[in-house]
Amino acid sequence: MEEIFPGVFVVVNEKGGANLGFIIGKNGVVVIDTSLFMRKAEELKEYITSITKKPIVAVVNTHYHPDHSFGNAAFTCSIIAHEITREIMENMDKEYIKNIVDKLPEVAKDFQDFSIRLPTITFKKSKKIDLGDRSMSIIHVGGHTEDSSVILVEPFNVLFAGDIVINDFHPEIVPDSNLKKWLKVLKRLLKWNVELVIPGHGSIGDEKSLIDMYNYLRKIQGFSEKIKSGKLDSLLEEIAEEPNFSNRKFPELFVHTLQVLSSSTMEK
Ligand SMILES: [Zn+2]
Repeated sequence: MEEIFPGVFVVVNEKGGANLGFIIGKNGVVVIDTSLFMRKAEELKEYITSITKKPIVAVVNTHYHPDHSFGNAAFTCSIIAHEITREIMENMDKEYIKNIVDKLPEVAKDFQDFSIRLPTITFKKSKKIDLGDRSMSIIHVGGHTEDSSVILVEPFNVLFAGDIVINDFHPEIVPDSNLKKWLKVLKRLLKWNVELVIPGHGSIGDEKSLIDMYNYLRKIQGFSEKIKSGKLDSLLEEIAEEPNFSNRKFPELFVHTLQVLSSSTMEK
């Protein structure tokens, strides 16, 4: 837990899980993302109520991915998200949760009596939350997923980037990622001259995180050609010497990206 500006808190997940955040303003508290686990979200809620008497007025989901949204169920307040986030979450069935448990058997217990809590307030382009002495603009950008949104906290100019930015770890590039759009978003965010960037995963950064992410994705974009023409070996040699790749943890996510690139209909 780190208070990066007065009333602006970040919970960095050291193990690579999703980061969480919350903002305490004059009129209440807003939580950003809720983790994969209800128990973690409960812990966060308890922590918040132990340090402030202000009510939790809303939770914001940066996108639909379960590691950012499944803890919603721990909260009774409004859940704000992009309309596509809600749409996708509405269509998550028992099978979707079963797939998660199959992949991570150690979390089976957490999902025994689990039901998804959907966003209750949706928006199309952007939504502003005014907390009196500080405000948050939630802005739909797409890229990592079609529904991805970022949150700008004013007056501190802090960007909660969701999975648009990942530090320290290889990013999760999924079949519904759109690399072209993602790169465009990063260029747009660079123009905002933000003070700090809170990535969806990894440690707190600044504008350099935006640049690193841009360079990373730009490389990935070039990979699909090499994969198609069977030049995978030269590609792996190339990135082994590149700190922006070799310093990132979770190489299995990189392998996953190569699979997505070679097999999917992902927009490049
Ligand atoms: Zn994600």
